[in-house]
Amino acid sequence: MERASSKSTVLIVDDEQTTIEVLAKILGSEYRVLFATQPNHAIELAQSKCPDLILMDVLMPGMDGYAVCKRLKELDTTKDIPIIFVTAMGEEQFEETGFIAGGVDYVTKPIRPFVLRSRVKTHIDLKIKGDMLREIALTDGLTGIPNRRNLDEFLQAEWKRSIRQGESSLSALLIDVDYFKRFNDHYGHQAGDQCLIQIARTIMTSLERDTDLAARYGGEEFACILPVTPVNGAINLARRIQDNVEKLRIEHDFSDVKKIVTLSIGVATVIPNSNETPRLLLTMADKLLYEAKKNGRNQIRHDQVVGGAGDFS
Ligand code: GH3
Ligand code: MG
Ligand code: MG
Repeated sequence: MERASSKSTVLIVDDEQTTIEVLAKILGSEYRVLFATQPNHAIELAQSKCPDLILMDVLMPGMDGYAVCKRLKELDTTKDIPIIFVTAMGEEQFEETGFIAGGVDYVTKPIRPFVLRSRVKTHIDLKIKGDMLREIALTDGLTGIPNRRNLDEFLQAEWKRSIRQGESSLSALLIDVDYFKRFNDHYGHQAGDQCLIQIARTIMTSLERDTDLAARYGGEEFACILPVTPVNGAINLARRIQDNVEKLRIEHDFSDVKKIVTLSIGVATVIPNSNETPRLLLTMADKLLYEAKKNGRNQIRHDQVVGGAGDFS
């Protein structure tokens, strides 16, 4: 998913090598150019390389350009990539079909280099701005880690995936800093902010799997969603996060638990089913966190639901 270079990437899909060469020549100096001569290869490349724009031929053997476009618009990983259709003169009646399939624009053959460059630039600029907006909307401003909106979307998707896979555990950690109000009151809001930044970083580096997500849930609360993770795995991560934050040895003379910053964590595990909503997992984690607080803080409370919501629904 990473950008391979600072240049934006254009994927050219056309069954004719000569057309690809013409297009690549016009765009090659400004963009990183990839190409595919077959529809399936195009879908594969779009998923693995995440180009910023696709130039799509309409008539290809096997699957036409509209069908490829529709398919790409259905896939989460490729749905936001703008697609410009390349139509031959005399095919203008198909332009409408292109827009309906999800294309953003079209250029006609024979290709006019200036027009092609202008349209490609316009749509790449829009795509980059869209990406930036999405990134900002999903990131916490203070700590730079995912925010609650991001976590909610992720949890929703993982809940559904887990149901599709069947019998796979989904775990959540809800993490809260102990006596943080006192920390702020005594060391100041700026020191409080720095503390939250350090904790966020430590939680992120404590994760071991690419598939886990950590987020700032709000205020001095953080949350992790751990797909395909049974309760023991989740408890291990909770301990690691607690240990790693203790190792930071952030002074907190006004805490009743220790003279350094500590965490309380609620750990919930469920096997998702379609009778429940993802809210169940966070409600459980929240109640467990509350128990951890009530029982003296600086501790982990866990529980799991195996079929049925118990008294957490
Ligand atoms: P407990 O051990 O029960 O969790 O007590 P607490 O003081 O940590 O909890 P409480 O909810 O009473 O206070 C949370 C405090 O977190 C209140 C607020 O001052 C602080 N806080 C929340 N968000 C931020 C932030 O973005 N920056 C800073 N510096 N402080 C924050
Ligand atoms: Mg709190
Ligand atoms: Mg707190």
